[in-house]
Amino acid sequence: MKPYKFVTLSDKVERTEPRERNVLLEYHFHGKWLLKGKALTDIIIRSGELDIHEDNIVHDLMKRNGQPFLPGSSVKGVVRSIHEAITYSCIDLPYLFGENYNRNQEYEAISSDNCKDDAICPTCQLFGYVNRGSIGKSLLAFSDFRLTTDVEESVTVKKIPNLFRPLREKSAMTIYQDERDRLQRKFYTHGTPQAGSGSPQLVIKKGAEFQGEITYFNLDGKDIGALAFSFGIAENPFPIKIGYGKPAYFGSIQFELENVIPYETFLFQSRKLTMEEVLEKAENYGTDDAFISGQKERLREIFDFEANKHNHWGVNQYGRKGY
Ligand SMILES: [Zn+2]
Repeated sequence: MKPYKFVTLSDKVERTEPRERNVLLEYHFHGKWLLKGKALTDIIIRSGELDIHEDNIVHDLMKRNGQPFLPGSSVKGVVRSIHEAITYSCIDLPYLFGENYNRNQEYEAISSDNCKDDAICPTCQLFGYVNRGSIGKSLLAFSDFRLTTDVEESVTVKKIPNLFRPLREKSAMTIYQDERDRLQRKFYTHGTPQAGSGSPQLVIKKGAEFQGEITYFNLDGKDIGALAFSFGIAENPFPIKIGYGKPAYFGSIQFELENVIPYETFLFQSRKLTMEEVLEKAENYGTDDAFISGQKERLREIFDFEANKHNHWGVNQYGRKGY
């Protein structure tokens, strides 16, 4: 069984005039969400450095002052990829064809090149442009997520299989064509982490918890629903995947909303928003749209932890474990 499944992406893009983040619009949502993340499996956020742990050389985790954390950019990346799949958003074509792709070809209408000054897609609006300066265009900011459980109890060394490692995350192939030339994205499913042989790696243990926040401006009700769903936050929540080793079933994390803090001053107030309303908007987002409902259903199936948690690698024709 492969550790991933494909989600077919939209073949149209709905672009609108960009909302700036420095002009607060009335009847929109502005504020902050405090979020908790709980590791349902071991999680690996590699620093690229080596460390010594109990006399062994090990691959290190991203750390600050000795504390592992989830970088805001990593969280943003995984949430963005889900958001792209549940909205009518653009696709970064170099992901599919490589950097030398001639951009004026068949997928022009959905290309991220066509999200610019006066018309941008929902994902570029919230998360900023891919691979380009996005100053003033992104309506979201992600903090780093710090570990809130005891570091000694939350970190250990495991031997993990050597995986094909893309040179850089950005240049990794994440978009594919199906047999009908529609574009699709690969999402890794949950499963049982395949530890026990390979290189020693520090891992954040199952059960560890993190805390972080996102700040947002000028969102409407649909944006709130799509954003929460992209975290796996809804009335029926589901865990998503983060970090290194996803093909070996590492990186399952359940995000939860801990608080919603609408922006308020004497002169200006955000539209009111409660935690219950966020969950409800996530559940109801796109239910009047067959494509979006279908995408949500497919993702829920891929990220169904209970149904997938026993997934594991088989033994290949060379007698080795793999996928
Ligand atoms: Zn776009």
